[in-house]
Amino acid sequence: KTLSIGLTGGIGSGKTTVANLLAALGASVIDTDLIAHSLTAPGGAAIPAIRHAFGAEFINADGSMDRQKMRTHVFTDQTAKQLLESILHPQIRQACEDAAQTAQGKYIVFVVPLLIESGTWLQRINRVLVIDCDEETQITRVMQRNQFSREQVCSIMRAQVTREIRLQHADDVINSAQELAQVKQQVELLHQKYLQMCAQA
Ligand code: ATP
Repeated sequence: KTLSIGLTGGIGSGKTTVANLLAALGASVIDTDLIAHSLTAPGGAAIPAIRHAFGAEFINADGSMDRQKMRTHVFTDQTAKQLLESILHPQIRQACEDAAQTAQGKYIVFVVPLLIESGTWLQRINRVLVIDCDEETQITRVMQRNQFSREQVCSIMRAQVTREIRLQHADDVINSAQELAQVKQQVELLHQKYLQMCAQA
């Protein structure tokens, strides 16, 4: 069975940046955020179930989920959040398995922001790769990228596991506080390590 890596990290830690570098080296990258997005886009496979569970007022005229409205709704309503997850998570997992079936790379990287929080994902993968930087770097980068306030970023971070807990689960760590050139060097070394593991398996 193909070596499967679970790539995770807090908001703005650099998951997408590292995933793109790994993809450029030939890894098969499967990003659960992109899958979730396409499931809830116009004509997406999750739309009928979302319309049925939440009502047509959560579906835009173009047939996509009203993300802004849904975000606000599930933020204040734990039951609604669980309902949405019960629709999306199985479909995300199935789409991941479908993509894994046809993956051409020597190993697969699943990008899963809430990998540690989810539990079931940990059983699916062989190794956990944590993208790690100090919280101040995370906050600064997300404030810049999203035009968020410090408090907005911190409130999202509080809903995720702490840096310490994430690192406790890590088999491999990329330090994303470094400059991009250094991050790239770390990623190249890690890629070699993964290729060796594939060869030995
Ligand atoms: P999210 O959790 O929001 O999906 P992410 O973990 O995928 O974010 P990225 O989008 O890769 O993180 O990075 C967050 C921001 O920080 C981006 O604007 C990115 O360009 C920038 N960034 C990532 N790595 C570095 C780095 N080593 N040096 C400088 N900027 C970086």
